[in-house]
Amino acid sequence: MTTLAATERALLTALGTIRENWAALVEPLLDAAASVGTEPVTGGGATLTATEARISLRHEATLCLSSWARVVVDDRHLTKSLPLGHDTLGLIELLQRHAGWMSGHLAGPECSRELTSMAARVKDSAEGNRVAKIQVGRCPETVWVTDDEIGRCPGNLWATIRYEESMLAKEVTCDGPEQHKWAPHEWASLGRRVLPPKGAETVA
Ligand SMILES: [Zn+2]
Repeated sequence: MTTLAATERALLTALGTIRENWAALVEPLLDAAASVGTEPVTGGGATLTATEARISLRHEATLCLSSWARVVVDDRHLTKSLPLGHDTLGLIELLQRHAGWMSGHLAGPECSRELTSMAARVKDSAEGNRVAKIQVGRCPETVWVTDDEIGRCPGNLWATIRYEESMLAKEVTCDGPEQHKWAPHEWASLGRRVLPPKGAETVA
């Protein structure tokens, strides 16, 4: 593959990824996901909630697409049916139509790199919206409490579920200091040992 073709392909892949994940990114956070997604993320010195981070990413992605679309429009002197600066899908479509030309532009490789990294961020954020964590009980493992004393792991067990798949958990992890993990083939034996969540014990 020539460099031009590789750049064009990278551009089209990035644009396709942003397009595919855009709808999920503009949906409000799912309740279940919101409960685990509200941990503050730090960016640029400011602390943002997950929802604020998504709004900021949408804005950043649209600005990025808009500035590259501007290069195409200006350099090719396009005047007809141009998307507005906030019409993200329209901007993607315009860049898709001109990806071949853009890959031959002096700034083509830079455009491709920038959109590829933006596509990865959009995809990560969109997927975060489709993930929920459900508490399944308390961790049954033991940990060293002091150098010579063993105690119960203080962690809770969480099953990670992706909405678009079978709704079967992909992973069971504990949030204790040792972050115990169980693979699917270990769940049957884990199920026999797992303790109910605190407050859910039956009173004898
Ligand atoms: Zn544990």
